[in-house]
Amino acid sequence: MASSNPAGSVPAIALRDLAKSYGAVHAVRGITFDVAQGEIFGFLGLNGAGKTTTIRMLLDLLRPSRGSAALFGIDCHRDSRKARALVGYMPGELGLYSDMTGQALLDLLARLSGAHIDLAYRLKLTDALELAHADLRRTLREYSTGMKRKLGLIQALQSDPQLLILDEPTEGLDPLVQQALNEILFELRRRGRTIFMSSHVLSEVERLCDRIGMIRSGEIVLLSTVDEARRLGGRLVRVRFSRPVDPIALPADMTLVSRTAETWQVRVEREMGDLLPLLAALPVRDLEITEPALEDVLRGFYREVRS
Ligand code: ATP
Repeated sequence: MASSNPAGSVPAIALRDLAKSYGAVHAVRGITFDVAQGEIFGFLGLNGAGKTTTIRMLLDLLRPSRGSAALFGIDCHRDSRKARALVGYMPGELGLYSDMTGQALLDLLARLSGAHIDLAYRLKLTDALELAHADLRRTLREYSTGMKRKLGLIQALQSDPQLLILDEPTEGLDPLVQQALNEILFELRRRGRTIFMSSHVLSEVERLCDRIGMIRSGEIVLLSTVDEARRLGGRLVRVRFSRPVDPIALPADMTLVSRTAETWQVRVEREMGDLLPLLAALPVRDLEITEPALEDVLRGFYREVRS
């Protein structure tokens, strides 16, 4: 499999034949890929596909049945403390001590991680994610779902780690805070930080991610840049004619998706050039070419598992 890493730079994440079985359940079936430093990588898959199991192996919360995982060249299991020190992790659900204040939890998690925390940076994050300073002094029992998610993000980000592992980062956030988080993630990428995030929100993945990997029943079924993935869906050409035309035979890589007497919609999988001579003989009034949204392409990949 081609490496996505610039020459000479060690990958932020390197998985080699990584597998985990729970008895007869093969949750992760030997996956191999790299995440380059400085990229935002979207880890996709349906419920139960193996995302959390993979993430837990990266953090050495689970031991693999086979294979290896390394962060910046450091083995996640043999050298787990060293590897873990490079990571900020936001789990899907933050285990919370409900009697603690938000501030106390951030301090506790910072002490446990051993990482240096720049309090000015923490405050900047708190402001950007619109968690009021007064809320940090309230106990977690009084937190709303969104406030808990914000606190989860702040604790993952506060040490400005080399690698962020975020499980569904925008779930439960209102649209304005989602936008603020996007800006924070883009700023981190500009500074060379790496972000590995799982998400079910494909429009968000399209906006944020440079590359995606899709896991299905424990296997990687798609690994590509967002642009390449979008192109897998081909292009849709809408043709309007100035008078009714009869259907014609199309090459194998083109599909007539819909047709009326004066309009066609043709999906072109490969070369657009092959369509033009066919249309040249027809009374074309207007042409519109669109690329499918990433969502539409990926939905196809998700769907295969259901069939
Ligand atoms: P979701 O999107 O729902 O969080 P996921 O992709 O994170 O799903 P995993 O939690 O990694 O999925 O689960 C992968 C498979 O492993 C599922 O079939 C799940 O039932 C199984 N599994 C996970 N944890 C255990 C466990 N402790 N014991 C047995 N099976 C497990």
